[in-house]
Amino acid sequence: MAIKTEKEYRERVGKLKPRLFMGGKKVENLMEHPVTRAVIDATARVYGLTMDPAHADVMTAESHLTGETISRALHIHQSKEDLFKRLDMARLSSQKLGTCNYRCPGNEMLPSLAATTWEIDHDKGTQYHGRFNDYMRYAQEHDLVVSGSVTDPKGDRSKRPLEQDPDLYIRVVEKRSDGIIVNGAKQHATGAYAADETLVLPGISSRAGEEDYAVAFVVPNGTPGVTYIGQYNPFSAERECETDIRFLGNPAYGQRETCLVVFDHVFVPWDRVFMCGEVEYTQKFITRFAKTHRMNCGGACKVGFMDLIIGAAKLMAEYNGLTNASHIAQKITRMLQLNDTSLACATAAAYFGKEEPEGSGVFMPDETMGNIAKLNTNDGFWEVLALAGDISGGIPATMPSEKELENPEVKAYVAKYLKAAAPAEKRMRISRFLQNWVAGLHGLGTYQGSGPSQSQYVSIYRVADLESKKRMALDLANMVS
Ligand SMILES: Cc1cc2nc3c(=O)[nH]c(=O)nc-3n(C[C@H](O)[C@H](O)[C@H](O)COP(=O)(O)OP(=O)(O)OC[C@H]3O[C@@H](n4cnc5c(N)ncnc54)[C@H](O)[C@@H]3O)c2cc1C
Repeated sequence: MAIKTEKEYRERVGKLKPRLFMGGKKVENLMEHPVTRAVIDATARVYGLTMDPAHADVMTAESHLTGETISRALHIHQSKEDLFKRLDMARLSSQKLGTCNYRCPGNEMLPSLAATTWEIDHDKGTQYHGRFNDYMRYAQEHDLVVSGSVTDPKGDRSKRPLEQDPDLYIRVVEKRSDGIIVNGAKQHATGAYAADETLVLPGISSRAGEEDYAVAFVVPNGTPGVTYIGQYNPFSAERECETDIRFLGNPAYGQRETCLVVFDHVFVPWDRVFMCGEVEYTQKFITRFAKTHRMNCGGACKVGFMDLIIGAAKLMAEYNGLTNASHIAQKITRMLQLNDTSLACATAAAYFGKEEPEGSGVFMPDETMGNIAKLNTNDGFWEVLALAGDISGGIPATMPSEKELENPEVKAYVAKYLKAAAPAEKRMRISRFLQNWVAGLHGLGTYQGSGPSQSQYVSIYRVADLESKKRMALDLANMVS
């Protein structure tokens, strides 16, 4: 069995030496810094869930390359059943972590790489698919965490890569006999500094003349020339200052941590390069990744988050003494409706999934439904947050510190005036948990992560069969054309 334990993962990640900066300082030890430790703890929990026999069906799979039992985070979907189980993995890990399953973003690129390298080799006689499969065997054998980076900094959004600073999209600056040299950066990379590997796909559909930008590759953490610059915000500062994590909104696992990854003349050997110059396949890489990512990260993962928010809002209503208020029941029902709509669309994306390209053995979710899942979630998640804020009252925004309950000067006042149908302690704890969602980073993170609504509108319109709908209308209206 090619699955590592939580302990083995911690030992491995403890040896990583990324060049990482956060909050204006160099992070010397991933295991010791409060923010990076939360990323490691969350990832370790995913390893724990994978080893748990109760979740084996969801969290593990049989490798199509070796026949071994592997983490589903490193599996290439071979059937619709695999797509369904992938959804279950996303939802389960979100329910257990309340933050990113840091093995997801890379995982969602792997099927796109498998399908598209197969297609390029099939069409052009290149060697990419064999290389990719060799890499997969290696990653599966060592049960690696692979982060995924597609989002370039992009600079002026109205300009193509060659119309501005050429490094604003990742590009090849030199081809050598042993490999390539790449320059540029990727933005918003979830968990990259604590991952074993960073996988890079093109973030733009390249055109003729832009061959240097049509590049896909993977580098190990600590590769010379790679620098990680971690996100930093009030939640980071709070976690850095807090000596007792019990008082944080998501105590063990924190926020969804991302970073800017800079590639400054980074050497990548050929056996880690999965596309180099084939501009006509960049759009395929992107759309195959996007539909997988939008079904999982955009759909099912956020269903797990909404499960938590709905649960916390219901608890808050009960703690406030509003167990039977009809308008609260109605609002909770609306939250359930929004959540289950996201789940239904993600499930439909898996249900209508199919082998793509034919003969590759790789199963892809349905593009329209994957995008619809994400689009519904964009709006639905904001509304769920708003309803949770409505139900909870102002306390998640205005509450004093829970530490006042231990302060002899005011603890009696806080216990007296913050209690309702439940003691102040319970009410404050669940308020703090809700604060993490309704007044935190997750609203924007959910909306922009895996692309804002416009990206989904474009995808849905592009694949829609509007001609057949026009014909149906013409037919029934008794018109020829
Ligand atoms: C929490 C979080 C985690 C993420 N994790 C990852 C990850 O692990 N890996 C990864 O690769 N990416 C990740 N992302 C990146 C995410 O996919 C992007 O944020 C998203 O695609 C939007 O890109 P952007 O942030 O550059 O915004 P922009 O692309 O600048 O978009 C901002 C707005 O401008 C509009 N716009 C942009 N360009 C144009 C144009 N040319 N013409 C007209 N309108 C335009 C967009 O529609 C949008 O409304 C993550 C993002 C977040 C927030």
